[in-house]
Amino acid sequence: MSRKLTVPDGHAGRTVVSIPPENTPSHFSRLPAAVPASPVLIGGRTLVMIAGPCAVEGREMLLAVARRVRAGGAAMLRGGAFKPRTSPYAFQGLGAEALLVLAEARELTGLPVVTEVLDPRQVEFVADHADVLQVGARNMQNYALLAELGRAKRPVLLKRGFAATVEELLMAAEHVMASGNPDIILCERGIRAVGQSTRFTLDVAAVPMLKALTHLPVIVDPSHAAGRADLVAALALAAVAAGADGLLIEVHPDPEAARSDGVQSLTPDAFDQLMRKIAVLAPAVGREFVVPERGGPAPGTPLQMLVRLREDIEGVDREIIHLLSQRVEIARHAGDVKRSLGAPVVDPVQEAEVLERARQLSEAAGLPYREVRALLRGIIAVSRHAQRTGDTGSENLEDDE
Ligand code: PEP
Ligand code: MN
Repeated sequence: MSRKLTVPDGHAGRTVVSIPPENTPSHFSRLPAAVPASPVLIGGRTLVMIAGPCAVEGREMLLAVARRVRAGGAAMLRGGAFKPRTSPYAFQGLGAEALLVLAEARELTGLPVVTEVLDPRQVEFVADHADVLQVGARNMQNYALLAELGRAKRPVLLKRGFAATVEELLMAAEHVMASGNPDIILCERGIRAVGQSTRFTLDVAAVPMLKALTHLPVIVDPSHAAGRADLVAALALAAVAAGADGLLIEVHPDPEAARSDGVQSLTPDAFDQLMRKIAVLAPAVGREFVVPERGGPAPGTPLQMLVRLREDIEGVDREIIHLLSQRVEIARHAGDVKRSLGAPVVDPVQEAEVLERARQLSEAAGLPYREVRALLRGIIAVSRHAQRTGDTGSENLEDDE
């Protein structure tokens, strides 16, 4: 195929996603009304991560995952409201209710929202709530839907059908453009191939191919291609190495309990890990991507700043507990060694030395001595408990005091 897609003047393959202030349902008018335009540019040097659950399953889960993926480096939030399920008996999504929850998540985190639209009759309604309209693989050649999206005032995230050629994907994009909408993001999400061992086969070559043929941004969905959470990171890294402008990744706070696509959903921790790897890879392939610094500058409304700072604090707490578990592990080994030496496991002299350090540590950190000392006492109590019982579990520690 030699022909390039039509590229409207000045468009140059960059799709800008902004959050128009009017895109705030009146339902949330109690929240600060004006959302400052925070455009996300897809197709520039910066990689754009879009993350969130397969389906919006409820308000709490969505808000929690939105906060976590934002802290991990996502620039946009995904979440299905209307789900195209292979089985008519499977969970079909929460519909309009989910759109309100997505809008609330945007309001709280500042992340623009991507959600799927299944039917031409839904386009206007979904466009009133979402920032980017997704066309699923099963609908790539639904021409009535594509035409309606051509008239929408929102960018379209167009997924490749799982039996569609690259040319057919481009022609589907052309349908949207021909009806007047030039803002299209192409998405490779895996196709059917002979003898595939994964849910779909990620066509990595389609990424440079599409980039050679069009000026449209190209992103990759490694989650649906892999169909297994443990393979998602490898495919995501391959996609970035192949030149993808961004990734669409499913993240669920509790994948095992997910109502759809739990097996391929990353936990928020696994998402964080992947984002850190991508931040290392990005400069090697000429792209920019940084994991947001905790407590760093927090643009947005005061409410968004507060939500973000709270998430940052929770992140620090998670790390403190992680470090504590490392300390407990070491203390347990030390306990085993002491036992093998016939020495008492609890050593008051050594514990006193640890507490002695409180003065120096608190001074160096500019923290109050008494509180730091109390904290170290608590840390010692947790370690002592593990040394005695050989357990790091959640038993009551009170009797160790
Ligand atoms: C999705 O992104 O939730 C989805 C249904 O993907 P696909 O259309 O690629 O199967
Ligand atoms: Mn899914």
